[in-house]
Amino acid sequence: MVEPSIFAIYGNPVAHSKSPLMHNYVFKHLNYPAVYTRVHLIDGSTLKQDFFDRKLSGANVTVPHKEAAYEACDEVRGFAQTVGVVNTLVNENGKLIGYNTDADGFLFALENFGKINTVLVLGAGGTAKALVQKFIDVGLDVTVVNRSQKRLDDFTHLACQTYTWDTFEVTHFDLVVNTTSAGLEDNNFPINQTVLESIFGNSKYAADVIYGKATPFLKLATQKGLQNIDGQAMLIGQGVLANELFTKGQLDKQQILKYMTKSFELS
Ligand code: NDP
Repeated sequence: MVEPSIFAIYGNPVAHSKSPLMHNYVFKHLNYPAVYTRVHLIDGSTLKQDFFDRKLSGANVTVPHKEAAYEACDEVRGFAQTVGVVNTLVNENGKLIGYNTDADGFLFALENFGKINTVLVLGAGGTAKALVQKFIDVGLDVTVVNRSQKRLDDFTHLACQTYTWDTFEVTHFDLVVNTTSAGLEDNNFPINQTVLESIFGNSKYAADVIYGKATPFLKLATQKGLQNIDGQAMLIGQGVLANELFTKGQLDKQQILKYMTKSFELS
């Protein structure tokens, strides 16, 4: 009998993670001999040792260990090199190989929409940084608006426009993305409600990176008739791409997507 491969998600906290549910559902329904567990890791510097002690074939990494995962790798490939952040690890002949599927997962989720040329990104934190870099890489015209100036300084070397709430003037955007944590544990809008109404009046699509609740941002987008997706689409997108790396392309991508999406109906 073939020994099943073992995969895991590392995080602190990690109990809330949906990754075991998503990946195990795919393995079970596509008859792939593997199990996926979770590891509560406190000290990120022990990640590599822990990975090999557990004889893992691969892993995902979540907050706060994504930078530590980057440092731990023997080799980092693709977009992870650009952003210095790793969310997927693969054991390749005893070497730890790092990838980042977060931003590509988001692009994959955007395939639900029509053609997009212009994007407005609300927020300038870690998530925004990765997404903005990716949007620029694929040739989109990107505008970033943040509540305050400090975090915007990290974007000045990038080919995008940056504004604070005070200097921003509404114009047309195909897509509006909320990357702020507004709406996560409160009922705040990521920008003044009247301004957001005006933005939505000039836009086609909206996406939120927050999942598990209908944020005020998404509720307003729905009310204004914009096609929209929540952070679950991003979570599934990064998971599909990670699963493809874990299973070395042996499973059909659309089937992975189908079962990951279905797994959420169980939770
Ligand atoms: P950061 O702490 O790095 O950045 C937070 C950003 O939100 C800053 O730009 C901050 O502005 C802004 N902000 C916070 N509160 C408000 C508010 N009330 N009004 C307007 N702007 C506000 O956060 P991350 O980038 O790490 O995470 C952001 C969100 O993304 C979180 O909700 C997280 O859960 C979610 N996330 C979802 C993922 C998924 O797979 N779906 C993956 C990763 C993250 P300022 O600079 O002025 O403080």
